[in-house]
Amino acid sequence: MDTQTEQETLTEVAEDVYAYVQRPGGWCVSNAGAIAGRDGAVIVDTLATQARAERFRACVDQLGVGARRTVVNTHHHGDHNFGNQAFGTSAEVIAHERAPAELIDTGLALTRLWPDVEWGDVRVARPTITFADGLVLETGEQRVELLYVGPAHTTNDIVVWLPRSKVLFTGDVVLADATPFALMGSVSGSLEAVERLRRLGARTVVCGHGPVKGPEVFDENEAYLRRIQQVAAAGLDAGWSPLRAAREAGPGDFAHLLDPERLVGNLHRAYAELRGGERGEPLDVPSVFGEMVEYNEGVLPTCLA
Ligand SMILES: [Zn+2]
Repeated sequence: MDTQTEQETLTEVAEDVYAYVQRPGGWCVSNAGAIAGRDGAVIVDTLATQARAERFRACVDQLGVGARRTVVNTHHHGDHNFGNQAFGTSAEVIAHERAPAELIDTGLALTRLWPDVEWGDVRVARPTITFADGLVLETGEQRVELLYVGPAHTTNDIVVWLPRSKVLFTGDVVLADATPFALMGSVSGSLEAVERLRRLGARTVVCGHGPVKGPEVFDENEAYLRRIQQVAAAGLDAGWSPLRAAREAGPGDFAHLLDPERLVGNLHRAYAELRGGERGEPLDVPSVFGEMVEYNEGVLPTCLA
């Protein structure tokens, strides 16, 4: 069963497994998922704005599953959890154990970065269940495995793996037709995570942004991240700043990906790691974001949320 609107599609990608894809992807235009079970649904991420979350919830309600909702937040970024409250105050909210501190730290920063977006009544997520390495949910028909794979995109990335149907929800650890972004996590950790996810043997990959893909999406993300490490090593050797290295290198073979300015942020993280920095250690995100705007000729990246 498919529910279509112009920009948002709920598609059954395997029996009882649904991908909710928002076009065109990019900043804050994120994806979500729903897994139907005996007495309700497991929800994977809840989108950026109140209106978007409510439209997604309405699509899930139309599936005719029971009333129980269990929400999984793949990481702390607001475009994956600001909409939690649309799924009710009684829903369990599951996140990684490093998410709560990051959620408190980050708060509603996205709404200040892009004040023109109609965010609606959005709140900082409050997980009710957290875990360290993994957690298994049984929906009745389907084993739902939550796996911690961070630090990668952030410090607290979890993916949702369905071994029976071979569907993988990657959160932002893997992106489809959009530039990977490891500023708040780790470039080397992202590469390890991509390799681990590849070995799961997924047939269908629902990324945090962009269209539904097959396992070939891992190759493009890996190639992009390897190039980041190469550009960073050469830039450090030359004594260039990450911004200078980004300008010298340009997008290379990845000009077709959305949000190319993430190159600057990725290079900041790769530089930190080449200098021996810990994966996921805090970097000055607002200042790096300013450099991403500079790379963009002074234009704030477009947010279509
Ligand atoms: Zn994210």
